[in-house]
Amino acid sequence: MATAQKLQTEALVVEKAKDDFKLITVTVDPVLRSDEVLVEMKYSGVCHTDIVFQRGLVPTVKFPAIFGHEGAGVVKAVGSGVKDKSLHPGDFVLLSFNACGKCVECSKGQPARCHGHVEINHTAKRPEDGSTPTAMADDGRKVSSQFFGHSSFCRLSVVKEACIVKCPYPESMAIFAPLGCGFQTGAGTIMNSFKATEKDSVVIFGLGSVGLTAVMAAAYLKVRQVIAVDLVPVKLKLAQELGATHTINGKDTPDTVAEIKRITEGGANYAMDCTGVVKVIENAIECLSPCGSAAIVGVPAAGSRLQLDPLTFLLQNKRLIGTIEGDSVPSKFIPQLMELHKTGNFPIDRLCKIYNVKDFHQALEDIEQGKGLEI
Ligand SMILES: [Zn+2]
Ligand SMILES: [Zn+2]
Repeated sequence: MATAQKLQTEALVVEKAKDDFKLITVTVDPVLRSDEVLVEMKYSGVCHTDIVFQRGLVPTVKFPAIFGHEGAGVVKAVGSGVKDKSLHPGDFVLLSFNACGKCVECSKGQPARCHGHVEINHTAKRPEDGSTPTAMADDGRKVSSQFFGHSSFCRLSVVKEACIVKCPYPESMAIFAPLGCGFQTGAGTIMNSFKATEKDSVVIFGLGSVGLTAVMAAAYLKVRQVIAVDLVPVKLKLAQELGATHTINGKDTPDTVAEIKRITEGGANYAMDCTGVVKVIENAIECLSPCGSAAIVGVPAAGSRLQLDPLTFLLQNKRLIGTIEGDSVPSKFIPQLMELHKTGNFPIDRLCKIYNVKDFHQALEDIEQGKGLEI
């Protein structure tokens, strides 16, 4: 049902690259497109990608802009063409990434591999016609919205149906919000991309929320060796509590690859990089056993290059993949992760600290210092 009255709300807006997030009044488009849903955000995770975009490191973004891509809220109105006829105002929902629904990967049921991922999610273009959704600032300026299909840093946001996952646990929405990106990326890389088993060894480089949820997923799957690597002792300790069988502090270890090869007696079956640091990605490839797979999950700097010994790579049958959103199908995988949490197998509450939006800058500072991993 389209809604006609003007919808004034507030949003954390970034005026231009490197500016702070500022809470200001905005007006959102009052008329819903047929596949859109109006959601009142109750919580949002903060993913490192939001900070990458705020700093202007992705040149295609039009400022001013509203970021946020791990929303949790309540449905206020539903567009006339929304396919899920059981979706109604008052429903509690989590919000994940958007996908075109039409490309070859979407048609194979793999929305995380959507060919339009960057345009649709980063540049926030509507998949159906390439237009850019906007909200309006008080002075009439247009503000880019529908980042990842939903711009969760806006209290009232017009979102794409493709982003929506119903949440049967409204009491847990605060800790479930980051399932929309960070948590499903970590768990999904282990469970969907690698499909790791009890016979495998897995190395996880970088213990932010993505790396630590990967540790949780590997522990849940009873992966034989779960090796967590970071530079910060408190994160390594947490990884151990969450199920890592071995931890390596890269600062104190002269040769991380040699240490992994020693622990695994020849190399790991899987390694994922959550840091985006080129040298670490190279280590992730280097530490693999024959037939091992490495995944790039963290975001490397644009234009960076890897050094790789292609002969060894070939002769050892190694694989290197890029993994977006943990190869997840959010409508299936997020409910699975919610149930894992409820049965005590995915303790994401250990990673969450909840802030009022007025303390957003404190939250960012804490994230930078590794105190709060998500909000
Ligand atoms: Zn697609
Ligand atoms: Zn993210």
